[in-house]
Amino acid sequence: MKHAMKNDKKGSRATLITLFDIQKARETISDITKVTPILTSDQLSKACDNEIFLKAEHLQKTGSFKIRGATNKVKQVVKEGAKFITAASSGNHGQAVAYVADQLGIPATIVVPENASRCKIAAIEAYNGNIEQCGTTSAERIPRAKQLASEKGGVFIPPYDDPFIMAGQGTIGLEILEQVADVDVIVVPIGGGGLMSGIATAAKESNPTIQVIGVEPETANDTFLSLRNNKITSIAKTTTVADGLRTSQPGDLTFPVVKKYVDDLVLVQENEIRAAMSFVFERMKQVIEPSSAVTVAAAMNGKLGVTRKKVMLILSGGNVDMNELPNLLQ
Ligand SMILES: *Cc1c(COP(=O)(O)O)cnc(C)c1O
Repeated sequence: MKHAMKNDKKGSRATLITLFDIQKARETISDITKVTPILTSDQLSKACDNEIFLKAEHLQKTGSFKIRGATNKVKQVVKEGAKFITAASSGNHGQAVAYVADQLGIPATIVVPENASRCKIAAIEAYNGNIEQCGTTSAERIPRAKQLASEKGGVFIPPYDDPFIMAGQGTIGLEILEQVADVDVIVVPIGGGGLMSGIATAAKESNPTIQVIGVEPETANDTFLSLRNNKITSIAKTTTVADGLRTSQPGDLTFPVVKKYVDDLVLVQENEIRAAMSFVFERMKQVIEPSSAVTVAAAMNGKLGVTRKKVMLILSGGNVDMNELPNLLQ
């Protein structure tokens, strides 16, 4: 067996999000987020022996899908009275939270590592986010961001393990069902599992015959191992080039959803990720980040186990440091 399979449909007691939550999220976020286009490439379709579609979240506001969940969650906490928010991320989640806070006119402090790149800090500052530098690991940053929130009567916004975040990410699934109604397969990168749990819920609760396939880097296979072990399993710190997928374990709330709905989870190698990113850059003239390229890599290397199907690859983001780009492309 090449793939981790799980078919335990019983015992999902956790509070799962529903299609209704995702429909509500779509209304909530529509004034801040974009409906992103679907791209196609005949060359890619031919190479993959499938009809390939790409959901272009690298063209989303702030350059990644993270703005969807962040908008849904931040609007909720503001409704509940929050006057200040924090997050712990120098990456796409940090940018998204800073952007939403700015749009809603509330202050945000984003806790970033001491070694965060100038370019990432500049992106957060461009959205008027306050920066606080702290340590080099998320184990240092997350408690600091929570502490800052509690000191100033604010709310900490988590990156994936939250029903409002998950429902916000799921709005991608609703758009796909309208844009390519007869889609057969949806392929999604998995970090903490917020993106996957949202999209899988939207797809399966609308049409259970749609196949949902997750992708992780071989060196960041925490969800793969968790599915195989049928329990949340952590891995050691990873250095995969796909920095958005460097989580050490799936979330407590996301994992039950992934377990319930995901049909298969495949792994890709670092060189496959780079080659896929290069293909998209060179042939399709699109800048995507390595975390996005994993879905393209899975398709290009025949890992999806399907042929002649309508396959939707999620391009989750496009934020790359211009100075790093030459090292990432091959
Ligand atoms: C956060 C992120 C992911 C992973 O999303 P999860 O909800 O953590 O699984 C994938 N791609 C990009 C570009 C991201 O920023």
